[in-house]
Amino acid sequence: MKASFFEVPSAKRLWVFLTLGMASLLFLFQNCAPNSSGCSDCGGDPGVHGGGNPSTFFAIHFEPRSGKAEYFETLKELINDANTYNIKLTLQFTPSWAKMILADSAKIAYLRKWQDQGHEVAAHHHGAYHGWEADGYSSLSQDDYKAARIEVHDQSSSQQQDIQETVRNSGLGESYMGDMNDFVEIFDQLIGDKTLKVMTMAPTDAAIDWLSDFIYSIDNLKMNGSKPEIVDGALVTPVSVVHNKIAVTEMSMQYINSDAQLSRAESDYNGTTSSSQIIGVVTHLDDYYYNDTYVLGWMKFVNGKDPTGASSKTVSEILDEM
Ligand SMILES: [Zn+2]
Repeated sequence: MKASFFEVPSAKRLWVFLTLGMASLLFLFQNCAPNSSGCSDCGGDPGVHGGGNPSTFFAIHFEPRSGKAEYFETLKELINDANTYNIKLTLQFTPSWAKMILADSAKIAYLRKWQDQGHEVAAHHHGAYHGWEADGYSSLSQDDYKAARIEVHDQSSSQQQDIQETVRNSGLGESYMGDMNDFVEIFDQLIGDKTLKVMTMAPTDAAIDWLSDFIYSIDNLKMNGSKPEIVDGALVTPVSVVHNKIAVTEMSMQYINSDAQLSRAESDYNGTTSSSQIIGVVTHLDDYYYNDTYVLGWMKFVNGKDPTGASSKTVSEILDEM
């Protein structure tokens, strides 16, 4: 017959009490220890990171219109800011930018240094149906491309038309320059010994221009009828989508170029509860060129939560880990 707990000798009872007590303390310590952001998770409230910081990515889009030397100087400043705050950037260039960099060995050297620092070189595409300026590359025939651009131009605002004309006159886009294989050839040179993985193009262009070379898509545009619209939300989940009959892993992201958009990204970050969650933001180099408030605001916010940048990753790093 088994003895009840109170029938065992007192020294043994003391040992059991001590063991149970130590185990309880260890349990409390493991579940209530402050994490690197300084918050604790005893109550399991949303908004505290007891489960660790979420992974974050920060994509930068380089528009066809800004593929000029003066903007490369702005890019150097952006990289300095990112390195100061331990933020890894996913740099998504359009062909005008890629060609400008490839034409100058000093610029290539900068790009290789930034890759060594952990930033990712990726692609951005403005195809035949992009509402602003096109980058000149398309899977459409040259005639169909030209017809599409006339159609888009006719439906564009006067501000969009001005940019389209400026870009055409400065040789940065609009005129037909080649097909999507030509596009990939340029990026194969730009990326050096790495592999091109990440692409962003609007859904209207992705339907015709997507190639199997682009295995990851990041895109915050969703179709509303025939018009693509920006979707808000920085807490993102990778999903499988099909572009041009090719299966692709895609994530959304929060555009940050206003107080409201930055607040949304910060509040989405604060609402995370696990290191397995992903927070993604995007902006344009042009936006930073005109006003660095939101880029610096986000970098400082993330750095406050994740000072060493352990959870700041490129898009490929995040999706390669999945
Ligand atoms: Zn763009």
